[in-house]
Amino acid sequence: MKRTLLVVGSVNVDAVSGVERFPAPGETVLASSYRQGLGGKGANQAVAAALDGARVELVARTGDDAGGAAVRAELAGWGVDVTDVAAVRGVPTGIAQILVDARGENMIAVSSGANDALDAAAVDALADRLGPGTTVLSQGEVPVEVLDRLAEVCRDRGARFVLNLAPPRDVAPRTLRTADPLVVNEHEARTLGLDGADPEDWRLACAAAAGRLAEAVVVTLGARGAVAATCTSSAYVAAPVVDAVDATGAGDAFVGVLASRLAVGVDLGGAVQSAVAAASQAVTRHGTVESYPRR
Ligand code: ADP
Repeated sequence: MKRTLLVVGSVNVDAVSGVERFPAPGETVLASSYRQGLGGKGANQAVAAALDGARVELVARTGDDAGGAAVRAELAGWGVDVTDVAAVRGVPTGIAQILVDARGENMIAVSSGANDALDAAAVDALADRLGPGTTVLSQGEVPVEVLDRLAEVCRDRGARFVLNLAPPRDVAPRTLRTADPLVVNEHEARTLGLDGADPEDWRLACAAAAGRLAEAVVVTLGARGAVAATCTSSAYVAAPVVDAVDATGAGDAFVGVLASRLAVGVDLGGAVQSAVAAASQAVTRHGTVESYPRR
């Protein structure tokens, strides 16, 4: 089996309006700026991994519309194989409507659109491409039935299943246990019963959960970096102190690079170090995928 990273995930059009202040319920405000571009956790993570040098194949669904064509072209431009990014008739491409106010706070509503057309049958169609050399990455923005089936197929085929459970979803306990690793931020970790005040607490919480909640566990800690644990070892990787200007998509940069390194056989500790380094660079530049470093 070739060493491919297969990303099964969401693709959205991000529609970003800059506003002086958020409208109150029932109120209309005029935006001072507007931009539209590639988004969705699957797309962002696929781009981060491709920029890190991985051979990335994205499995996703768009609508049969202009937004779908645009995000497909953008993904291909970043070096992602979009052969399996299929357009579904009669449904819109997923869209994230984002308001950013003058203080940089945001409000986001995501309409999943065609992303909801990914189903267990689409996963079954991938089974023959999975084996001990493949790494599969997915996120909480695809239907739960997709995550549960992916985990099952990865177990059957001996492929590695990397799960970024963002946003948190009610997947089968067995799906979590298959995750190697399960990657979450602090908020998501709390929904799974993990907690910590400082990185050392988080490291111990991950070590206790590894082998039980999931095969391995990684928690990102924002400006503090990340912790990771397997059954036999655990580590805290501090983030470098940087001049942070825009944390949008930092978590996706982290997960994409983590999976990219795991796909070429780097161990979990080494992969987390690369992921922290890449995500911390991404926060020093504006934009989402535009801020990701190229190896
Ligand atoms: P999410 O964006 O999913 O909430 P985090 O906020 O935990 O994820 O950030 C993910 C990674 O991005 C961190 O592990 C770290 O490497 C990097 N990062 C985020 N914020 C900063 C910051 N202010 N300074 C340095 N690195 C950062």
